[in-house]
Amino acid sequence: MKRQIHGKFTLLMIIAIIVTTVLGTLVNYTVLRKEVIGDLQNYARTLKDTVYRNGLQEGEDKLVSEYRITLVDTSGKVVYDNQADIRNMGNHANRQEVKTARKEGEGQAVRRSETIGKSTVYYAVCLDDGMILRVAKDSSSIFGVLMSALPIMMVMILIVMICSILITSYLTKSIVAPIEKMAQHIDDLDPTEVYRELRPFVNKIKRQHQEILQTAEIRQEFTANVSHELKTPLTAISGYAELIHHGMVQGEEVKHFAGEIHQNANRLLTLINDIIRLSELDSKGLEITFEPVDLQKSAMRCVGLLQVSAEKHHVRLEMQGTPCVIRTNTQMIDELMYNLVDNGIRYNKENGLVCLTVGTDEQGKVYMEVEDTGIGIPQEHQERIFERFYRVDKSRSKSTGGTGLGLAIVKHIVVQLRGQMTLHSAEGVGTKIRITFADSNGLEEHR
Ligand code: ADP
Repeated sequence: MKRQIHGKFTLLMIIAIIVTTVLGTLVNYTVLRKEVIGDLQNYARTLKDTVYRNGLQEGEDKLVSEYRITLVDTSGKVVYDNQADIRNMGNHANRQEVKTARKEGEGQAVRRSETIGKSTVYYAVCLDDGMILRVAKDSSSIFGVLMSALPIMMVMILIVMICSILITSYLTKSIVAPIEKMAQHIDDLDPTEVYRELRPFVNKIKRQHQEILQTAEIRQEFTANVSHELKTPLTAISGYAELIHHGMVQGEEVKHFAGEIHQNANRLLTLINDIIRLSELDSKGLEITFEPVDLQKSAMRCVGLLQVSAEKHHVRLEMQGTPCVIRTNTQMIDELMYNLVDNGIRYNKENGLVCLTVGTDEQGKVYMEVEDTGIGIPQEHQERIFERFYRVDKSRSKSTGGTGLGLAIVKHIVVQLRGQMTLHSAEGVGTKIRITFADSNGLEEHR
């Protein structure tokens, strides 16, 4: 970038110098030419009124003058020239300045002379006796003037090039400095310190950078949590197996220990299944097939699946609602209902109630709701329970087979199905989670 600015700046300066020099020379040349013609005119008129007032004097001495003086008679024959031999001179009747002078009294012409870079300016006046008096002078041609300006121009270009190197290196440094600073300290950079045009860019990079850092942090935390969660059941399995292996337990105890191993292995499986499901939901290429799904049927399936668990926990499981069809994904709806109802049962009280409702709200939007009369979630935890591995009561979660991932999966699915979730909970009273789906997810158009 620096080199580009530098090159362009120098090129600009050189073009400016050339254009200025050429234009200056042109102006100079025009003024010079006018002056020469003016001088010649004055000189010719003076000669006409003085020396040649009475015509040409025979045998007249050659006039010593800085100008060349020629006299041409009415036939065009040169009768006098103070610098050249008139015998070698041809007829001058057709010379432009002579012709004009004969017609109009005075005439002028400029012709290239033999000397390079020079031209001759002629001025002719018609004398009273019809003869033409012509004075001439060599003057620089435009090319000559330009050539004479060339060395100065070269020197100027050289000086400008040196100056432009110094100026542009200073300028580019000061232009690029904030950008370089920005690249080095993007995190703690105050956006007002950079160019206004770059501020949105800086803010965006900062935001993205923070997001990347956050994601990395979450990932790291998740990996640590996963390792920890896997370690507990594995350690138990390994311990029980070792005891059996060394014959340190006998009879009924073996059965009990085998049961423990089985339970912990199941725990591991559930955990791994949940982790896999979460990473599937997290992956960018996740493809979801939307099809018409009757939420009431899903709810009935869910209640059927969890009825036994509810009875085991001495909780009554109810289902309410009417048939309501939306375009959505069957498996995901089943997962949502299962996770929420399962939580409603596990975090309930003796003889409590869990009610799964599906229906259409006042705005015509289809929803599903799981309400329980369980232990409730304290206000300060309500924001965080959707985080991975976040549990209010760790031991209760684990003793009831929880992985701490159920609600994280629920949250992901709700986002994917373009739903909205609300949570109402009071400690010791119960919890109500409602998921509302957006405008029946376009069922009308797709039916
Ligand atoms: P877990 O597998 O531990 O149940 P979840 O992600 O499903 O994990 O839930 C996170 C935490 O939120 C639970 O550990 C529990 O403390 C709390 N929680 C979830 N649902 C309910 C509920 N219906 N009533 C009370 N607490 C709940």
